[in-house]
Amino acid sequence: MPDGSAVLVIDDNMDDREVYRRMLARVPGASYVVFEAENGDEGIALNARKRPDCVLLDYSLPGRDGVGVLEEILKLDPSANVIMLTGQGSETIAVEVMKGGARDYLTKDTLSPETLHRCIQSAIMHGDLAARLEQKQQSLEIFTRAMAHDLKEPLRTIKSFSRLLQASPSLAHDDHDLLGYVLSAADHMEELIVKVSGFSKLKASGDLEVKPVSLSAIVDQVERNLREQISSRGAAIERGPLPEVMGDGTLLVQMLQNIISNAIKYCETEEPRVRISAQGEDALCRIAIADNGPGIARDHRELIFQPFKRLVGRGIEGTGLGLAICRRIAQLHAGAIWCEDAEGGGTTFIVELPLALPETDKAPAGAASPQQAGQRAERIGRVAEVLLVEDSPADVQLLKIKLMKREKVTFNLHVASNGREAMQLLEERSAGGHDPLIDLILLDINMPIMDGFEVLEALSRDEGLSGIPAFILSTSSDEDDMERAKALGAQAYMVKPPTRQQLELALRDVRTLDLQPCGDALILYAEQTRHQTHATI
Ligand code: ATP
Ligand code: MG
Repeated sequence: MPDGSAVLVIDDNMDDREVYRRMLARVPGASYVVFEAENGDEGIALNARKRPDCVLLDYSLPGRDGVGVLEEILKLDPSANVIMLTGQGSETIAVEVMKGGARDYLTKDTLSPETLHRCIQSAIMHGDLAARLEQKQQSLEIFTRAMAHDLKEPLRTIKSFSRLLQASPSLAHDDHDLLGYVLSAADHMEELIVKVSGFSKLKASGDLEVKPVSLSAIVDQVERNLREQISSRGAAIERGPLPEVMGDGTLLVQMLQNIISNAIKYCETEEPRVRISAQGEDALCRIAIADNGPGIARDHRELIFQPFKRLVGRGIEGTGLGLAICRRIAQLHAGAIWCEDAEGGGTTFIVELPLALPETDKAPAGAASPQQAGQRAERIGRVAEVLLVEDSPADVQLLKIKLMKREKVTFNLHVASNGREAMQLLEERSAGGHDPLIDLILLDINMPIMDGFEVLEALSRDEGLSGIPAFILSTSSDEDDMERAKALGAQAYMVKPPTRQQLELALRDVRTLDLQPCGDALILYAEQTRHQTHATI
């Protein structure tokens, strides 16, 4: 953190303000400039004037509560980094303030110079990152708008006048040909504009309309869109049974269209043949699009997914963006795309997407082959199912807001409000049926009916469930609790509220789970092998 960070303390209690000032003065290697305000109105005015790097805001201010002040500060300065200072054990308040836009909250009784310093640092860093991201998004938006609108206009003028000139009877034959070049360059540029702006939009938005879609209907649409190319090349498109997948229909058409159109475009034989098939693997669908084209050398199989990388010259039209867009679309669906050799020559593109319906045939736990068991989740992973066992609704909210929303860690969350409910859910899922098994348990200790330690004991007694990693989520870092949890089989001990960092650390020793970056988010993937199935659809 840069020296001399400015911190504004808004607290009606003079002694508390003095304590914070002293704590900040005692942080080794950092120097803080501290401003003080003794009520909300003064704080709001001082914040507007001084624009400090961070605001420490007391939740219980007289007259006006902390959340009202927070709202007012953020209204005037949406990028303000506010840390709320609350009394002990007030998770409900913590949820309220995080929802209200505070970067973080701290309980007054557990404050130390280190925790205060760390919390301020991370709030400032978070704010810097958010500001930089916002700037980048703005530039991207301007760029995309310019691409989509402003560049197209002059291009249209070039094309219309070139066409007029070309139609002129007095034009010499050579000039007619030269204008042909101008027109085809303009067409290429138009295609580039459409593709680049489409790509940028994909990168900027990330919001999909995900719902169950029929792959057959997607391929029908692609065939309609490519009718001209298919008939002019005399291409044959064959397909096996195709299932429903979870996805955004428009984007899936765009993805399969590029792969199928490539398969025809790059095929050098008289009769391009494309075969589309699908195989279900647990919650994932693996779609294979095989062609009888020239094949792609091993060294180029990753390269072609980079923007503007082409393996052919200008003789074959294209922008080199198609597969980069396909990869982005696959990633947006928490899926994957790569290519392999096709049987008898040619290339097979493989796309993995989440299946719309979980399959019925589940193999028993541990039925995976040794090779599969050794594989990490990056290739064959699906988004992990995480069970949070927690009786406090406020703590459930905190995990959702802090870990999942703010820190963008993605997984499928299930919640049980006590140990017994959790055991029931785990047993039901392991008994088979449609629902995917739980891949990770986040376990509170103090709960009614059946506490966290009892759950750990029950898990270790159950052969089918003992393999599921369980992390303790506790309010304190009590050493006795830690040791007891470890002895009972907990794989990690995390202090509430769980953070991205804590989770990363805890997952280090868990071979079946993997956190993978996706844009600025992280997706928790689970290995297929714990309950692998290879049913053909
Ligand atoms: P466009 O943006 O119009 O799709 P493009 O087809 O050149 O342009 P990509 O779809 O990204 O771009 O493909 C990148 C390159 O990969 C192609 O230029 C081609 O050299 C190679 N390629 C793609 N698919 C195949 C295939 N089925 N067989 C052989 N080469 C392929
Ligand atoms: Mg292409």
